[in-house]
Amino acid sequence: MNLIKTFTAAFTLATLATGVQAQSAPEEKFITIGTGGQTGVYYVVGQSICRLVNRDTATTGIKCTAPSTGGSVANVNAIKAGDMTMGVAQSDIQYHAYNGDTPEFEGDKKFDKERAIFSVHPEPFTVVARKDANIATFDDLKGKRVNVGNPGSGQLATMQVVLDAKGWTMGDFALASELKPAEQSAALGDNKVDAIVYTVGHPNGSIQEATSTVEANLVPVEGPEIDKLVEENPYYAKAVIPGGMYAGTDADTNTFGVKATFVTSADVPDDVVYEVVKAVFDNFDRFKGLHPAFANLTPEAMVAEGNSAPLHPGAEKYYKEQGWIQ
Ligand code: GLU
Repeated sequence: MNLIKTFTAAFTLATLATGVQAQSAPEEKFITIGTGGQTGVYYVVGQSICRLVNRDTATTGIKCTAPSTGGSVANVNAIKAGDMTMGVAQSDIQYHAYNGDTPEFEGDKKFDKERAIFSVHPEPFTVVARKDANIATFDDLKGKRVNVGNPGSGQLATMQVVLDAKGWTMGDFALASELKPAEQSAALGDNKVDAIVYTVGHPNGSIQEATSTVEANLVPVEGPEIDKLVEENPYYAKAVIPGGMYAGTDADTNTFGVKATFVTSADVPDDVVYEVVKAVFDNFDRFKGLHPAFANLTPEAMVAEGNSAPLHPGAEKYYKEQGWIQ
């Protein structure tokens, strides 16, 4: 009798518990973050954000994944198409997608619903050349075999901007290959190309691999055309890759660059964006520790710099609560 009573009590409690849980269990929401190649920093940005977001799945219902993609342009297009929820994109790509002012984003490819969430690390436009190719300046790339970036990547888009500024075309290279970041360091080492380009945060494993598998040097990207680009476009800035960061380059390398930014669509609900932003900034020290390229990040700069599309209201809400914006 007692036994049955105990069982009944336990059963009732369990039912109650399940009932309570069922009522308060948040609705499951799956979100995807577009990143870049697995050897780049975007992949770590996406994976790190998801790791923090997924710690709160029990209360928010949000389940986050961050697959490898072609990079900035591919991410923005996937968000526009509704195939991804959020993504990482270079500040120049964020600008062009929102304003529709470059061929990739002209006409119906313009993404006026693009919304900024925050900016992340600086990304210098980085050129690495084999030492035996004798490439000391960007102009020395003429007639060489250059990996100009995979389709969908930010580096391919920015390379095109640099070529236009200099009055060059892809035809000025002996070869303009479009290998992915994960393939290009090996191609440099195997003497399939003389130089590679990557718009990427530093330090990173990809450039480390490129400069350690073969004798190589970083190539400065400077001169009047670059000065003009930086002067005329708010999303570009002068950048320096510190000397000694990679084997073969002891002096600082002058170049220009963008910022990595985190973007979404106006169609994504405010509470989802709010929870993602909250997960990152409530755990900011942990986030910063997940990649050396994040070392100098501050919340204030991430909110204020590099964003040209309007801030998403879900992000804005959190920043107002923190007093980072008015
Ligand atoms: N900036 C590159 C792009 O837009 C990606 C760099 C990275 O993956 O860290 O495609």
